[in-house]
Amino acid sequence: MIRKLLRKVFRRTAAAAHNEPATIPLEQHGIRRAQISPAAAKVCDVLQEGGHKAFVVGGAVRDLLIGHPPKDYDVATSATPEQVRALFRRSRIIGRRFKIVHVMSGRETIEVSTFRASHDAEAAETDEHGRVLHDNVFGSQAEDATRRDFTANALYYDPANETIVDYHHGVADIRQKTLRMIGDPRARYREDPVRMLRAVRLGAKLGLAIDPAARTPIREMAELLENVPAARLFDEMLKLLFSGYAVQCLRQLREEGLHHGLLPLLDVILEQPMGERFVWLSLANTDERVRADKPVSPGFLFATLLWHQVLAGWEKRKQAGEPSQPALFEAMDDVLDSQARKLAITRRIVGDIKEIWALQPRFDRRSSRFAPRLIEQPRFRAAWDFLRLRAESGEVPMELAQWWDDYAHAGHDERERLLAAAPRGEATGPKRRKRRRKPQAAQPDSADDQSLARLQD
Ligand code: ATP
Ligand code: MG
Repeated sequence: MIRKLLRKVFRRTAAAAHNEPATIPLEQHGIRRAQISPAAAKVCDVLQEGGHKAFVVGGAVRDLLIGHPPKDYDVATSATPEQVRALFRRSRIIGRRFKIVHVMSGRETIEVSTFRASHDAEAAETDEHGRVLHDNVFGSQAEDATRRDFTANALYYDPANETIVDYHHGVADIRQKTLRMIGDPRARYREDPVRMLRAVRLGAKLGLAIDPAARTPIREMAELLENVPAARLFDEMLKLLFSGYAVQCLRQLREEGLHHGLLPLLDVILEQPMGERFVWLSLANTDERVRADKPVSPGFLFATLLWHQVLAGWEKRKQAGEPSQPALFEAMDDVLDSQARKLAITRRIVGDIKEIWALQPRFDRRSSRFAPRLIEQPRFRAAWDFLRLRAESGEVPMELAQWWDDYAHAGHDERERLLAAAPRGEATGPKRRKRRRKPQAAQPDSADDQSLARLQD
C-alpha cells in the first residue's frame, strides 16, 4: 500500500519535473547570440515581438554545444504556420503531412515549425492542448520537447536572453557525451524505426556514445526497418553518407547489426569482396570533401559503390565475345536495373552515374584524336576524380590518372609532348583507318560519343 502510494507520488514528481524545464544561463552553456546565424536570431526576434514564443531548436543548438558548425537552423514557435507566414514577407508554407514555414533571409532559409504534440497525444489531448489543422497536431512547448528523439535534440535556445530551455537534461547528457533517447527507446523505435539509424549517425558524427538503454534494443528491433518506405530510407542513408563521418557511421552500423539484408545500400557497401578497397577509399574521400566544405554528389558516390559490379559484368560479357563498348553499356544497365529500384535511386542520379561510368574507357585513349575531346566533356572532372580513385585502389595504374591530370592542365606544346610520350597499344583505342581528311573534333562521331550524347539528352 505504502509502496503503491510512494510510486504514485514519485511518478507525479517525475511528471512535474518534465513539465518544468531547467533554464540554463549563458555562463553555463556558453552559446552567445553572435554565434548563431543572424537570420535565425532575427526570425526569433520577429516572432517574439509578435507575441509568440520562439527558439532555435534541435541540431543547431546541439552542434553549437559540442563545438560543431551547425548545418542549418530550425526554429520552433508557438505561432501557427499561418501566423508565421503573415509575419515574414519572404516566407512560404510547405509540407503536406506537417505544415512548416520556410523563411528566407538573405541567402539563408530558416525552417520554422509550430510546437507539435507527439503521436500519443494526437487522439487523447488534441482538443485540450492544441488545434488540429489538416495533419498538423499542435501542442505545447513541453509536448514538442517530448516528441523529439534524443535529449540532445530537445534544447531550445532563446537568442533574446541567451538561455537554453532544457526539458530532458540534454545539456548534461551532451556534457557526458551521451546520446539518450527521450522516453522508452523500444517504444520510440517502434513509432519510428528510422530513429535507430539516426542514433548511429548522430552518435558517430558527434562523438557521442549511444546510451545502453537505446543501444541494446537496436539489434533485436533492426528488422522493423523493413517496413520503412524505401524513399525515406534512401533519404536517411544519404544524410548518413554525406554527414562527413560516413566511414565511422558505417562501421558503427555494422557493429550494431544494422546492415545485413535490411538496408540494401549497406549490403552493397559492406558486402563486396572485390571492390571493398575502392568503396572505402571513396567513402573516406567523400568524408574529406564534406568536412572541407567541397561539393559532393550522390551520383558520384553511387557510381563508386556500384562500379565493381559493373566491372564484373563488363568482363563477363567481353569474355563471351561482346565488343567492349556495348558490353560496358549493357553491364551498366544490368547493374542499374537490379539496384536502382531496390535502392530507390532517383532517375536524375541514375543519369549522373551513367555519365561517369561511360567516360571511364575513354581514359585509355591517349591520342590526339580522342584526348582533346575527352577533356572538353562537361563531366570530365567528375570522371577524372573517379579514375583517380580507381588508380588509388590499384585497379588501374596511377600513371594513367597522373597523365590525364597533367594533360588537362598543360598548354598546347606540353600536350603534344604528353601525347607523343603516352604509352601506345590499347591506349590508342580501336584501330582506325589512317587520317581522315576533315577534322571532326566537334562532332560526336564515334560510337561512344553517340552513346554518351544519348545519356546526356
Ligand atoms: P542534422 O540536421 O545534423 O542531420 P538534426 O538532429 O538537426 O540533425 P533533422 O532531421 O534536421 O536532424 O531534425 C531536426 C530535429 O527534429 C531533430 O533535432 C529532432 O529534434 C527532431 N527529429 C528529427 N527526426 C526525428 C524523428 N525521427 N523522431 C523524433 N524527432 C525527430
Ligand atoms: Mg537539422
